[in-house]
Amino acid sequence: MAIARGYAATDASKPLEPFTFDRREPNEDDVVISIKYCGVCHSDIHQARNEWGNSAFPMVPGHEIAGIVTAVGAKVSKFKVGDHVGIGCFVDSCVHCQTRDVDHEQYLPGLVQTYNSVEADGKTPTYGGYSDSIVVKEGYVLSIPDNLPLDKAAPLLCAGITLYSPLSHWKAGPGKKVAIIGMGGLGHMGVKLAAAMGAEVTVLSQSLSKKEDGLKFGAKDYYATSDATTFEKLAGSFDLIINTVSAEIDWNAYLNLLKVDGTMVLLGVPENPVPVHAFSLIPARRSLAGSMIGSIKETQDMLDFCGKHNITPDIEIIDIKEINTAYERVLKSDVRYRFVIDMATLDG
Ligand code: NAP
Ligand code: ZN
Repeated sequence: MAIARGYAATDASKPLEPFTFDRREPNEDDVVISIKYCGVCHSDIHQARNEWGNSAFPMVPGHEIAGIVTAVGAKVSKFKVGDHVGIGCFVDSCVHCQTRDVDHEQYLPGLVQTYNSVEADGKTPTYGGYSDSIVVKEGYVLSIPDNLPLDKAAPLLCAGITLYSPLSHWKAGPGKKVAIIGMGGLGHMGVKLAAAMGAEVTVLSQSLSKKEDGLKFGAKDYYATSDATTFEKLAGSFDLIINTVSAEIDWNAYLNLLKVDGTMVLLGVPENPVPVHAFSLIPARRSLAGSMIGSIKETQDMLDFCGKHNITPDIEIIDIKEINTAYERVLKSDVRYRFVIDMATLDG
């Protein structure tokens, strides 16, 4: 066992605090990683505060991990000491199946999440990236392209793949009109990725306060959803709408912005069910869908795509001691556009 240091939530109602814990001994197929940066995803806040009702404490959140390999097991062939690597939302997949379904592993039962989960042994808790080290099976470690700095690469491991996967699946590209609802951590990556894929991108944000940034990220249009005329002007406009908002918004109003055969994909999870009227779908053969992160294979494709097109998130680097303030700022949509913890500040 190696001692790791990090920050943990010890209870849903308490601020995160310094926490020391054991990392397991590496097996022959494991990679040991010194964590340099970890992004702060809104899902970390949902889980640290038990908003999904499935939280186990103490919890070390963090699934946007970027670091450097410090040791590898004897059977590891893809990585060596010194490599720049990333870990996303899961560290093992279907532990019940013989064959790994590389295209859909995030949807298999038995997914082992990077934190707030248990390892394949069914009992060892997983602890995430708000910490100085992690031990992960080689098959769940991602290679970070050389031209992407580690701090900016970190948010790609969740925010990046969560947008890349549905944009690829629903074929965002030339000739397609894509709208992104909410320009936060996920949403701003959606704008950059969809634009790089060649789609015509529109941002649907609560206000116009981030319009200049949205256009800089590659959007062609930017509308305020607080203005009721937006919904009249844009009726029947989009092939694909990606909804990154977890608040309860009126999905019917947004479904009405889809063309015939258009799809709205949900990424954020509202606390309560949202009513959908059949007439929001039927008269234009529209679809309402959901999507969750992406497979390891797809995540590597996304990192390579970002390396090739030089796509990185806009980030604000924070000291880990500021994590509780950072959570409050995320809740107020006051982050441009992802907080990333500099793990060197654990020593400060
Ligand atoms: P975030 O940075 O807080 O961004 C969410 C954005 O939603 C905000 O920037 C804001 O955009 C908009 N918004 C917030 N409150 C709103 C309200 N009351 N009404 C309308 N719009 C509102 O969060 P994130 O990290 O991008 O995560 C977004 C959601 O996706 C979270 O619920 C997270 O748990 C979930 N998530 C899902 C997956 C998946 O695999 N499906 C993966 C990661 C995260 P504007 O200011 O532009 O309006
Ligand atoms: Zn996330």
